[in-house]
Amino acid sequence: MMLLGFFGHSNSGKTTLIDRLVGRYRRRGLSVAVLKHTAHRGFELDSEGTDSWRHGKAGAAAVGLLAEGRAALLLHRLPRQRRPRPGATGAVPDDAASLVRLVGEAVSPDILFLEGFKHAALEKVAVGDIGSLPGTVLRVDPASRRSVAAMERFIDRRLLVQRVADRLPGIDCGRCGLDCARFAAAVADRRRRPEQCVNLSDIRLSVRVDGEELRLGRFPREVVASALLGLVSPLKLPRAAGGRARASRRIRRVEIRLER
Ligand code: SF4
Repeated sequence: MMLLGFFGHSNSGKTTLIDRLVGRYRRRGLSVAVLKHTAHRGFELDSEGTDSWRHGKAGAAAVGLLAEGRAALLLHRLPRQRRPRPGATGAVPDDAASLVRLVGEAVSPDILFLEGFKHAALEKVAVGDIGSLPGTVLRVDPASRRSVAAMERFIDRRLLVQRVADRLPGIDCGRCGLDCARFAAAVADRRRRPEQCVNLSDIRLSVRVDGEELRLGRFPREVVASALLGLVSPLKLPRAAGGRARASRRIRRVEIRLER
């Protein structure tokens, strides 16, 4: 999932830009989700007097609504809500991070745009005439076609990098001379080839179902292998015999047996 934030003054054109991008990537068959931060205190998504509104007022932590293939989840309490310290680094702040996780689990979008999460420590696009904030990777002038086209090219490339990164083990072993994120960018720019990730190229993967070997093409083999390596990455393993440091331990064989 690729995350990208947008911030700007009100009426700067953020929502129109995001809607344009949603349409663009939907037409390409991608799934796109949007999270919007609102500065309005005490806003209500629910109508006063409805059953769901009453459940919330009664103290329910969350109230869900489901009707005709659409669903809404009103969270009346987030895990922790605190303003990030100015200049804080790390992932998006806790309140946004919990929403990002929920959206990821609910719809697994290819792209998640966040509108107005100014203080989130994620890559952001500054829209219109506003000063840069930490994480600003691009400025866009919605009134300029050229500027909007440059933004779309930027996002197209970010998507490509994300797609490569999703196929890598994500364990940052450094054996290619880079970390996984830089390696993914190098593959997207055709400076490296995916098979130069030694953790993918070395792999011999066999999957047997009821004793019969599955014939896996290169892409599914890489996806299965990178998912398994990510799952059992060295940091999740107990200390190897002889007390070898976990981080330098190289996984040689993974055996998983599933029976029912
Ligand atoms: S060799 Fe593969 S797993 Fe290791 S850092 Fe490079 S891309 Fe990541």
